Amino acid sequence: MKLAIVGATGMVGRQFLKIIQEKKLHFSSIKLFASKKSINKKIRHNNKELTVNSMDNLLLEHFDFALFSAGSDISRKWAPKLAEKGCRIVDNSSCWRMSKKHKLIVPEINGNTLTKDDFIIANPNCSTIQLLMVLYPLHEKYKIERVVVSTYQSVSGTGNKAVLQLQRESKEQPAKMVYSHPIYNNLIPQCDVFDRGGYTKEELKIVNETKKILDKKIKLTATAVRVPVHRCHSESVNISFFKEFQLEELKKGLKKTSGVTLVDEPKKNKYPTPLSALGRDEVFVGRIRRDETYKNSLNLWIVGDNLRKGAATNSVQIIEYLISNTLKNN
Ligand code: NAP
Repeated sequence: MKLAIVGATGMVGRQFLKIIQEKKLHFSSIKLFASKKSINKKIRHNNKELTVNSMDNLLLEHFDFALFSAGSDISRKWAPKLAEKGCRIVDNSSCWRMSKKHKLIVPEINGNTLTKDDFIIANPNCSTIQLLMVLYPLHEKYKIERVVVSTYQSVSGTGNKAVLQLQRESKEQPAKMVYSHPIYNNLIPQCDVFDRGGYTKEELKIVNETKKILDKKIKLTATAVRVPVHRCHSESVNISFFKEFQLEELKKGLKKTSGVTLVDEPKKNKYPTPLSALGRDEVFVGRIRRDETYKNSLNLWIVGDNLRKGAATNSVQIIEYLISNTLKNN
């Protein structure tokens, strides 16, 4: 099986290779692609040096799978051409996420909706994935009525250049501004550009993608904030259910959920943090407590590594799911 990685030099692209190596997934060849400035750059993988290729070479050979993380414009231009040649693409950009023709997949939640006819598959937004890993088991059991989420998103969510802005500002060096304000020693209540109704695109992505994956009837409102943390997104979440719940039983259910780790011992100061979630594939949840101001409601705190389950891990899991389930009997 041959794999192409588009955007291989980026924050997400480099994680694809790391995860493929950790999972010992075997591809007969892996070809890397990025922008013109990276052509012939070498990246180490499994004790070999892989060379970054020009996008102009992407259609010259057959690939069985491709992982895209180079932004929407690149996905829009190249993914359909590659799909026409029989390649199955998992795309990290927002290009196809809300398209009626394309599926938006978190394998643990809706991997079973994939069919052999899916050639371009969308990977959800990083904040949506970690949120839904926790909301899904709760929705199955207690039926969610409404969610209020505030995110605390790390700079790696904006890519290489934003990490550089934070690093340089922290050393009091002149920095190229990716954000409209300094991020070091600051918080910016804006992730992505403003869209309708005073909401940012990031906030609307969380709303719309949750409805597409989980349930279009769920009422959800979001505030997305950029914080001076290198990696891992955190979320403060208030949830109201239609059904009553027992707190201990609800926690037990989350503890049993595959891909979710419960860290909830407040008396020992134990709860998820960005540093404790760093480099991990699970989504962490803690600070679970009843919201005493409204019926059937609770507050909780979710942390996930935006580059792992929020992006690269989920994409690689989609390919694994296709190989071991969807395409197995083909
Ligand atoms: P990044 O660190 O800025 O990397 C961008 C990648 O795209 C680099 O490999 C870059 O290559 C490549 N690229 C840029 N222009 C290109 C062009 N004209 N042709 C081919 N390749 C080009 O960004 P990132 O954080 O990895 O994000 C990449 C994508 O994943 C975005 O769509 C983002 O929304 C999505 N995503 C990111 C996260 C996250 O947490 N970071 C999570 C989920 C989804 P060069 O190095 O050569 O410029």
